[in-house]
Amino acid sequence: MTINNIAYIDLQAQWTTEKKDLLKIIDNVMSSGQFVGGKYVDQFEKKIAKFCNVKYAVSLNSGTDALTVALHCAGVKKGDEVITAPNSFISSASVIAHLGAKPVFADVLEDQNIDPEEIEKVITKKTKAIIPVHLTGRICEMKKINKIAKRKNIVVIEDAAQAIGSKYYNKMSGSIGHIGCFSTHPLKNLNASGDGGFITTNNALYAKRIKKLCNLGIINRNIVEEFGYVSRLDNLQAAILLYRLSKMKDVIRKRRNNVDFYMKNLDKNHVFYPKEKKYQFNTYHTFVIQVRERDKLRNYLKKKGIGTAIHYPIPIHLQPAAKKLKYNKNSFPVTEKQSKEILTLPVHQFLSLKQIKFITDTINEYFKQ
Ligand SMILES: *Cc1c(COP(=O)(O)O)cnc(C)c1O
Repeated sequence: MTINNIAYIDLQAQWTTEKKDLLKIIDNVMSSGQFVGGKYVDQFEKKIAKFCNVKYAVSLNSGTDALTVALHCAGVKKGDEVITAPNSFISSASVIAHLGAKPVFADVLEDQNIDPEEIEKVITKKTKAIIPVHLTGRICEMKKINKIAKRKNIVVIEDAAQAIGSKYYNKMSGSIGHIGCFSTHPLKNLNASGDGGFITTNNALYAKRIKKLCNLGIINRNIVEEFGYVSRLDNLQAAILLYRLSKMKDVIRKRRNNVDFYMKNLDKNHVFYPKEKKYQFNTYHTFVIQVRERDKLRNYLKKKGIGTAIHYPIPIHLQPAAKKLKYNKNSFPVTEKQSKEILTLPVHQFLSLKQIKFITDTINEYFKQ
């Protein structure tokens, strides 16, 4: 990767650095003949539970399935309501609808995370669960959210798909609510080479039921206790994830260093980004800035060979799929304003200091014109 060809994400660079090790690992799994489930799946679940500082982790097919099964396990069904953020990836809302429940949105704060006060306003007797999304890898105000949930006897399901390794004070993401949901999609910080995900919890009953639900509800080989899902992690993906998990601390350190450089050097008169709060240790799946005339800056960067992205340009409540929910423009002013101003800069662990500097200088230079 050259200075004027900076990708927003760089999976080729990852393969180049890991190829020698991964080819051996892949050979191992292929020779074992164990593909669905297997020893690497078991090992991964143990190691990731330890990493997230929870008693139990159950691996499955995707972050989306993690959310579906978590909601199912929390008893969410037809007629219930589940509160989440309108600025998330579409999964957080679509899983609610799939279970026959109603997605109810609450607007976000300037840091793009759900506003606990807005949650209070939309709670009803039908509210069964809250899904706070640790967007960009920035941890939500969990103490306030948990307090509201406890008072109303509501289940808190963390969407931690973007936040592996992030902390609320010293609590790991996925260990703060009742259940944590993670994705190991190729674009996430801990990534498989295909779809994958896992659920974390300290609740033994939840863990046992989730494990069962993910394997069609089967126990003891032939007894189906309840109708479930086919959502399992492949042994091959588990082996790859185990290998990458061993490098996770380094990945987090590099990403945080990159963000640190941006924060110190970007032109603060034109570029807004939320600072890390006292309670946050963020692992930055993405680094999102907020700027006026975002599309112009994006084009300028593109011309200079710098890849960026927008997470996400159309809020969920304004998607055609959400029409039935009867929200409209101005339903969530903060989310809608941010959707026009947010820009995701490259922050991945394979960027060189020279490249980060080039990106920073180019942005600052744009605002000087
Ligand atoms: C990626 C993501 C998901 C879904 O994960 P998949 O593994 O792609 O199904 C859910 N929520 C958020 C916030 C995500 O970023």
